[in-house]
Amino acid sequence: MFCGNKSPMLGRLPSFDYYRPATLDETLTAMERLNGNFCVLAGGTDLLVGMKERRGRHPALLDIKALPELAGIRADNGTLCLGATVTTRAIAQSPLVRERFPMLFQSMKLLGSMQIGNRATIGGNLANGSPAADGAPPLLALGASVKLVGKTKERWVPLDNFFIGPKKTIIEGELLAEVRIPTPPPSGRGIFYKLGPRNAPEDICIVSAAVYGVPDGGANGWKELRIALGAVAPTPIRARHAEERLRGQPLEPKLVEEAARIAADRDATPISDIRGSADYRREMVYVLVKRALEQIARDYPSAA
Ligand SMILES: Cc1cc2nc3c(=O)[nH]c(=O)nc-3n(C[C@H](O)[C@H](O)[C@H](O)COP(=O)(O)OP(=O)(O)OC[C@H]3O[C@@H](n4cnc5c(N)ncnc54)[C@H](O)[C@@H]3O)c2cc1C
Repeated sequence: MFCGNKSPMLGRLPSFDYYRPATLDETLTAMERLNGNFCVLAGGTDLLVGMKERRGRHPALLDIKALPELAGIRADNGTLCLGATVTTRAIAQSPLVRERFPMLFQSMKLLGSMQIGNRATIGGNLANGSPAADGAPPLLALGASVKLVGKTKERWVPLDNFFIGPKKTIIEGELLAEVRIPTPPPSGRGIFYKLGPRNAPEDICIVSAAVYGVPDGGANGWKELRIALGAVAPTPIRARHAEERLRGQPLEPKLVEEAARIAADRDATPISDIRGSADYRREMVYVLVKRALEQIARDYPSAA
């Protein structure tokens, strides 16, 4: 059954078993016992909608919101550590994030309404594997890693290697426990742009772009220049061809324009859907990447 805007009407939740372990160890034991027949429940803002739309099988839900091991934001030896169950609103309200990770702050501020932000977790935003996840481009551009834990092993994975397809990640019966982000040097500059259907924060983006740069202080322009894109490929991506074009060169207007065009035409592989056509998305990649690079060049005229 469909309503006017052709999105499926939400039905009632199907029945499911519900577990709310008190510790990480209890959770991992339950995961082992359930042998893959479970689904992790964090904020539920994606999962519960999917269940109401009868997407996928959810025989048992493991609620991880109460786990102390997955909570909290802290700085540790030059790294920002975000517990998987930290809400996107808590990240947007963190003075540490606002001051040292403005690009991440910006993306979290723009993620959903206040109600969504109060439930949605950073772990859920990444583990959901959406190409349009607002947290993904800034975290990719900042070189973040995620910690995946199972009963017998744990591993750290660069976020670059985490997404493998639409709604698919490398998680294999594991829990995403933590996100770690190297603290940028004081000269590092990051910009996040999100284009939504009505430019309202509660909208899932049509296109998003994060650009992060560290000037090298010399004639070669930039020590680091990373570009990440959302909603224009099967996964959130780094715009590697555009980055390559910019390597070791000052951000001059002609080069900026060329790199933005490469990001749109070579790195992005968008599809058309209800939010926008592939052509429009490509053009918006060009606009957002160009605008972000120009902004960075204006902030650091000596490296431009
Ligand atoms: C009205 C509305 C507006 C929205 N707007 C935006 C938006 O503007 N930008 C945006 O990016 N998203 C948006 N979303 C999507 C969603 O809110 C976010 O992706 C959110 O961060 C998901 O987090 P969650 O904790 O609610 O995840 P959940 O719904 O609890 O889980 C999502 C998926 O990830 C898995 N999972 C969750 N946590 C873990 C973990 N720690 N380890 C392993 N697997 C895990 C779950 O099993 C599930 O498959 C919106 C959703 C709604 C309903």
